[in-house]
Amino acid sequence: MAEPAPPTPSAGPGPAGGPGGPGAPLLSVRGLCVDYVGEEGLVRAVDRVSFEVGRGELLGIAGESGCGKSTVAQALLRVLPPPALISGGQVLFEGRDLLRLDEPALRALRWRRLSMVFQGALDALNPVLTVGAQLRDTLEAHGVRGARARQRAAELLALVGLLPAHLASWPHQLSGGMRQRVGIALALALEPALVVLDEPTTALDVVVEREILQVLLDLKARLGFSAIFITHDLARMLQLCDRVAIFYAGRLVEVAPAAALRAGPRHPYTQGLLAAYPSLQGDDQERPAIPGAPPSLRSPPPGCRFHPRCALAVERCRSEEPALRSLGAGSGVACHLA
Ligand code: SF4
Repeated sequence: MAEPAPPTPSAGPGPAGGPGGPGAPLLSVRGLCVDYVGEEGLVRAVDRVSFEVGRGELLGIAGESGCGKSTVAQALLRVLPPPALISGGQVLFEGRDLLRLDEPALRALRWRRLSMVFQGALDALNPVLTVGAQLRDTLEAHGVRGARARQRAAELLALVGLLPAHLASWPHQLSGGMRQRVGIALALALEPALVVLDEPTTALDVVVEREILQVLLDLKARLGFSAIFITHDLARMLQLCDRVAIFYAGRLVEVAPAAALRAGPRHPYTQGLLAAYPSLQGDDQERPAIPGAPPSLRSPPPGCRFHPRCALAVERCRSEEPALRSLGAGSGVACHLA
């Protein structure tokens, strides 16, 4: 089923001058589908997802484990591990559909125009290369060579609060927080327009998490890149992001400016998520959990996928799937009653 156009990041007019025009969003994802194909058949992990990211915008993506948020992140850069397969949709970035680019064209864009900070920095760093060698390799692969590459590698470490001496360090000699700073330096090495941050602080303790997020926010303010921030920490996401997209069982169910979502979430699932999360102020009130568990993506329920857990469900919810309706001002919701 075709989905309507995604809610745009601002309340302004639609893209000017077509895809990639000056008024167009930096990234426009339309009807993205990702399948996992195994011996037991096909599982649709991301189902007809559409959203946009504006220039300089920080979009958060939230949802319970297995809702498809990290799969979307990896699909955007086409770094999904098999057996995952992008089976439909468009990913328009600066006017070009990334899903239709051949591998050399995509390689030329990765790191230079869009990059990624992965969940575990150890996964992203090569254990048999020093930090300096990895930074220089990335720079040299994109034409920054010799003394300029060495100088830029030192600048990048300074940018993320590390010392020039760390250029000679091996990944295993660094703490988790330092490795994640190196991951950020790598992602920013070529000053990309869009950085995808896939749970960049998951493996870190709270203090280091706060430091890394502050580094990212400072860099975003200084360098002006757009970012997609994926985390399980909804409270922090609402504090940091411009807009937030909520995923449920492979579908995008609500997107809205963070302030609007804090003040009045429209989708019953978002309302349940927000009510279940401890606040950043750390009060010790007991939080009501959403009853039940997300459905298996092998056989999602018909109609609205949230209906078995939704206290407001009516007959229509059990048979008719709600499409994401634009509410203006960068907001949209997929609920018959919202
Ligand atoms: Fe609940 Fe129905 Fe809205 Fe789904 S469509 S969230 S079941 S009210």
